[in-house]
Amino acid sequence: MAKDEQNNRMEKLVSLCKRRGFIFQSSEIYGGINGFWDYGPLGAELKRNLRDTWWKAVIRQRDDVVALDASIILHPAVWKASGHVDTFSDPMSDCLLTKSRFRSDQIEPQSGTAVWFSGARSATTSHAPERPFAVLLRKNENIEQARRLAREYYAEGSVDKTTGDWMNLELLGERQEEVVNSTRFNPSNGGLLTEPRPFNLMLKTHTGPVESDDNVAYLRPETAQAIFAQFKNVVDSTRVKVPFGIAQIGKAFRNEITPRNFIFRSREFEQMELEFFIRPDEAIELLYGNVTRWEEGADLSSPQPNWGWEMWHRYWVAERTAYYAGIGLGPDVLDYYWQQPEDLAHYARATVDILFKFPFGTEELEGIAARGDFDLRQHQKHSGKPLEVFDEELKAAASALSEDQRQAFIQKTFENRSKPETTEAEISAYCHNLFKGNYLPHVIEPSAGLDRLALAILSAAYDEEVVTSDGGKSETRTVMRFHPRVAPITCAVLPLLKNKPALVEKAREIVQSLRSQMNVFYDESGAIGRRYRRQDEAGTPFCVTVDFDTIGENGPENEGTVTLRHRDSMTQERIPITALKARLLEATL
Ligand code: ATP
Repeated sequence: MAKDEQNNRMEKLVSLCKRRGFIFQSSEIYGGINGFWDYGPLGAELKRNLRDTWWKAVIRQRDDVVALDASIILHPAVWKASGHVDTFSDPMSDCLLTKSRFRSDQIEPQSGTAVWFSGARSATTSHAPERPFAVLLRKNENIEQARRLAREYYAEGSVDKTTGDWMNLELLGERQEEVVNSTRFNPSNGGLLTEPRPFNLMLKTHTGPVESDDNVAYLRPETAQAIFAQFKNVVDSTRVKVPFGIAQIGKAFRNEITPRNFIFRSREFEQMELEFFIRPDEAIELLYGNVTRWEEGADLSSPQPNWGWEMWHRYWVAERTAYYAGIGLGPDVLDYYWQQPEDLAHYARATVDILFKFPFGTEELEGIAARGDFDLRQHQKHSGKPLEVFDEELKAAASALSEDQRQAFIQKTFENRSKPETTEAEISAYCHNLFKGNYLPHVIEPSAGLDRLALAILSAAYDEEVVTSDGGKSETRTVMRFHPRVAPITCAVLPLLKNKPALVEKAREIVQSLRSQMNVFYDESGAIGRRYRRQDEAGTPFCVTVDFDTIGENGPENEGTVTLRHRDSMTQERIPITALKARLLEATL
């Protein structure tokens, strides 16, 4: 898609979202607040359906995943242990001239001539700032433009600025330099940016009545950490056994430097995260004498006891892909990025980003990381509480080994260690712990954003087509082609005429009969064609029309039937009211 076409599509989508009540800017009547969004009546239903499909696929339809609903504010020590206090930051640069703020790693590289200045001097006042400043001139830009911006910059804070004399500042030390693919300049005015510096993304608050350093708290930047912090409680209060998962959906907050692309990157958003705990590969080796590792084409359809972490990681990529296909996001709109060793966080063994082809580019929808035992180990260390599990089968398998076999196992584990700095003594202690049946489970983490998913679903659904009306007129039909499983309204029930009580009564009856199992919408106002169009824009897959045939006014043969109109094909069929619910449920389950 060409850039203009992409922008155009995005603009149309944003405008439809507002017009039809999917998404509004937060606090719009006060001018809005950057990075925050509200879901209107249709958006709230869409989001709820998406949340439900994830909950079903990840928790309800499995035996091995349980749920959690943790608080948004956790003990600040959680964020110290997880590394968020010290390292959860993005690089930030400010424009020296306008003070606008950029995420340094998102600045488009630019080439051109950089004009450097070392300072300026006023002929009329004592104003004489001495500090470097530069302006990047791109093709066809004039050097006078650079000088004008430089004068404006050096005049900041001087009387010259208020009197207007700043245009006369004498610039000092001008020199030119060719730059290629530089990210040091403001893309809109060419002004120099500050060196990138880390900016912590956690939103801070205080708990209790006194605002002091002692009661600083953070709004969680991800939902995952609460799962690790509650790991032991879940294990002790349920009958889960590794491999198993803990999943939760909830709000997360990040003070993003540059929220952008509608709801794609915002400061308040919702995550759907699963921590799937598995046995470390060494435990698998002890139990089964071998570890199944990933090979191209390996069968991922059903987990096997001797799977190593690579297989579990691939399995979850396949599971999540199947989930997306089930709500209408197939291989044509998804892509994958396997992080390269240099991209990986120090604790991650592998990470794959599932990407979606958004109108503004192909970007991350979900990340699936194999994180080893990093998180549980950190929380065990910082809390001082043991977080290991006891694995009866493992203990039994190890006790069957001779001393020589144990020594050989320790030796092999040492040779295969993932970090070269790990000592023999550390490996030996680790293996002896395994022999007793104890270990910290490793984890595979599929982490998805609900708002990004909503945007993906909205972008994939948006369509325009030219249709010819009964009168032969051509018009553009805007239609949201949501999968029936996630559509905000499953079925609209429309009496042909609103002033015919028998039609209205029958339509109301149908609404009532469907309501407990799906979202039904009743609409009696306007011409039937207009009502269909409204539902097309809302993405309602089915419309049921109650007409004179339904109430038997045209003879007995069609009495008790309605027309069922299909959104995508616009075809209509007559079906008995008694068959309606089953037909609609079949499409949504
Ligand atoms: P990005 O690289 O886009 O900032 P990330 O790698 O930091 O994302 P994770 O920390 O892995 O993201 O979070 C998991 C998921 O949460 C992401 O795949 C995304 O769907 C969602 N997410 C993260 N940050 C935001 C945000 N600011 N707004 C909306 N969704 C977000």
